[in-house]
Amino acid sequence: MKRSLLDLDINELKEELLKIENNKFRYKQVYSWLQKGASFDEMTNIPKSLVEILKDNYSTGHAGIHTKLVSEIDGTIKYIFELHDGVLVEGVLMPYDYGNTFCMSTQAGCSMACAFCSSALDGKTRDLTDGDMLAQIIAVTKDAGGERPVNNIVMMGSGEPFDNYENTVRFLRRINSENSLNIGFRSISLSTCGLVEKMDRFTEENIPVTMCISLHGGNDETRQKIMPIANKYAIAQTIDAARRYFNKTGRRIIIEYVLIDGVNDDRKNAEDLAKAIKGLNCNVNIIRLNEGREGFSPSSRNKTAEFIKALSENKVKAILRRNMGSDVNGACGQLRHNIIGED
Ligand code: SF4
Repeated sequence: MKRSLLDLDINELKEELLKIENNKFRYKQVYSWLQKGASFDEMTNIPKSLVEILKDNYSTGHAGIHTKLVSEIDGTIKYIFELHDGVLVEGVLMPYDYGNTFCMSTQAGCSMACAFCSSALDGKTRDLTDGDMLAQIIAVTKDAGGERPVNNIVMMGSGEPFDNYENTVRFLRRINSENSLNIGFRSISLSTCGLVEKMDRFTEENIPVTMCISLHGGNDETRQKIMPIANKYAIAQTIDAARRYFNKTGRRIIIEYVLIDGVNDDRKNAEDLAKAIKGLNCNVNIIRLNEGREGFSPSSRNKTAEFIKALSENKVKAILRRNMGSDVNGACGQLRHNIIGED
C-alpha cells in the first residue's frame, strides 16, 4: 500500500520531499494543497516530474465520500467516508445557529464494547491515523465547495480517542496549527468513556479542548451493566481525573448521559449522579438514546423529564440535547454497521 502523505506533518513532509528533490520550499506548496483536498494532478504549481514521482509512490491520503444522506428534518448530513485503504468511517455534519459542528471518528469501529452503542457492533477494524482524521474534515469542507463549513469539531463518532492516544494528540496539534485548518482548541470537544491514565496524560499535553465524559450511569453498578470500562475504573476515579483536567486547563467538563429505558433512567441514578459530580465544574447533557441496538430503547419523554427534574432537585442543571439526523441514522455507528452488513 502506498504511503499517505496526509499522515505526515509539515516537518515530516519536508524531510520526505527532500529525499526526492533538493528544493527547500516545495513542501509548503504540497502541504497546502493536501489541506485543500487537491489530487496530485490538481497541484498546478508543482513540476510535472515531481507530480509523477508522488503519484507513483504515495497516496494523498484523502477520503472519498462513499455515502451521503441529508436529513429532511434538520439538515444534518450523515457521511460514510472511504479512507485511502478502503476502510469505511462515519461523520455527521450538524447545522446549528452558531455554525456547523462536525462529529468525526477516531477509530474504525470501537473496541470499548458499550452495550448500547452501534459502533461497538463490529469491534474495531483499525485505529485512524491523524491523516485519516484530517481527511474527514477536508472531505466535508471540499463537499461544501471549498467554503469552510466546519466551525466546531466533536470527537464523538466511532472510536475512543484515548484508545488511539498518539494519533489523537497529533491530529489535535495539526488541526490547530496555522499551516493546517487552524481550528481553535476551544472549538473542539473530545469525548471519552474515561480511560483514567490517558486522561491524566492528556492533562499534561496543554491542549485545552472541551473534555466530555461518557458516563451513562449514576453509579458503578449501573455503569458496569452497559460499559465494560466501568469494571476497570470507578466513577469516582473518572471524575477525579476530569477534575484534574479542569484544574489544569480551566475548561469546563461536559458529562454526557444517554438515557436508556429501564436501564439508567430511574431516580436513584439521578441522585447518585448528582452525588458523583458534586463540586465538579461541569455541565450535564442528557441525550435520549437513538434507536440502534436491539434490546435498548430510549426513555419516554415523561421519564426523561422526571430524570431532569430529579437532577434539578439535587442542584444539578441538565440540558436535554436535541437528537439530530434521526431520519439518516444519525446515531454513532448505525449507518456504517448497516453498510458493512450489506457487503
Ligand atoms: S459509546 Fe463510545 S466508547 Fe462506547 S463503544 Fe461507542 S464509540 Fe466506543
